Amino acid sequence: MKLFDVYPLMDLNIVKANGSYVYDEQDQAFLDLYGGHAVISIGHGHPHWKQRISVQMDKIAFYSNAVINELQAELAEKLAQISGKPDYRLFLCNSGAEANENALKLASFHTGRKKIVAFKNAFHGRTSLAVAATDNTKYTAPVNETENVVFLPFNDIEALKTYFVANGNEIAAVIIEGIQGVGGIHVSSDEMLLAIRDLCDTYNVVFIADEVQCGFGRSGKFFSLDHAGVQADIYTMAKGMGNGFPVAGLLIAPNIKAQYGMLGTTFGGNHLACAAALAVIETMEQEDLLNNATRVGAYLLQALKQIKGIEAVRGKGLMIGFDVPERLGNLKQHLFREYRILTGDAGPKVIRLLPAMSINQEIADNFLQALQAAIDDLNP
Ligand code: PMP
Repeated sequence: MKLFDVYPLMDLNIVKANGSYVYDEQDQAFLDLYGGHAVISIGHGHPHWKQRISVQMDKIAFYSNAVINELQAELAEKLAQISGKPDYRLFLCNSGAEANENALKLASFHTGRKKIVAFKNAFHGRTSLAVAATDNTKYTAPVNETENVVFLPFNDIEALKTYFVANGNEIAAVIIEGIQGVGGIHVSSDEMLLAIRDLCDTYNVVFIADEVQCGFGRSGKFFSLDHAGVQADIYTMAKGMGNGFPVAGLLIAPNIKAQYGMLGTTFGGNHLACAAALAVIETMEQEDLLNNATRVGAYLLQALKQIKGIEAVRGKGLMIGFDVPERLGNLKQHLFREYRILTGDAGPKVIRLLPAMSINQEIADNFLQALQAAIDDLNP
């Protein structure tokens, strides 16, 4: 049987991985600065993560949400501490799209309203409402077309105010990525986030922070919104949360009340998923990875800005992007083929760096040297 062909594949067969390196079948090492779409947060095959999962595996791997699962309570406790939001509630699910789908639905349940405000270039996932709030018509099927979602210009406070003044009482939610990922690493301004908070308070609208890619420490703070000192009503989390084990979740403000049946999932919050997420948070604490992401991220950002040939270096912590001018051709492919470095992209013009939060300065320097050499190769 062939696979349903929806992914253009790189010519790379990864058979093992360790830390920030992955290895092909010839045992060639590749420096992984992409982490399989921002997923590898504490490093491939981290010993504590492997141990936590395998110890749990020997006890019980899965049971549904029909029974008490103490690991969920333990995870909620850990999340309360690391996020600084002990009064929020945790709902566990399996993927970023599912987290956003649930957040949007919850906002509609809570407000009794239907309209959703999203932003140009947003990406929120592939399920029905999440994809409707995603600004890319390639991903939406006719059935996903809806008048309930409006896309406003990114970081445009005036446009937001105007829309709220005209439609405020119909809006269920505003959903925004603190740092747009798929859209090309664009940081939401503090002023924009404050304005959203303000307008959501005035019109009783639910503020959803999609922290699926930019959250769980990647930006150097646990949530990217923490940089602006702004609180959302719902935070969605996924990618880095399990370091590759599928697990996702929502943190929900206390004024949004739960009712039986409102949300649900078979696999979400299972024993292995909780063990993986707990291992990630414990490792983040033990290895001081938030501060490491801040430090190494700032170093990389500053050094990248000195490199001639690339443009518009941007980001926060270890979520970094830059533009690649056309004359350099395919820099990402060249880094992969000639320097064995994996980076991400966001369209043909943008390179995205989403390395493990544990990378050190030596790795950053190796990358910077290789990048300069690759640019010189392509533009001698
Ligand atoms: N939100 C954001 C900001 C994302 O970057 C992604 C994944 N690229 C998603 C949601 C969807 O996550 P998943 O692929 O786990 O459904």
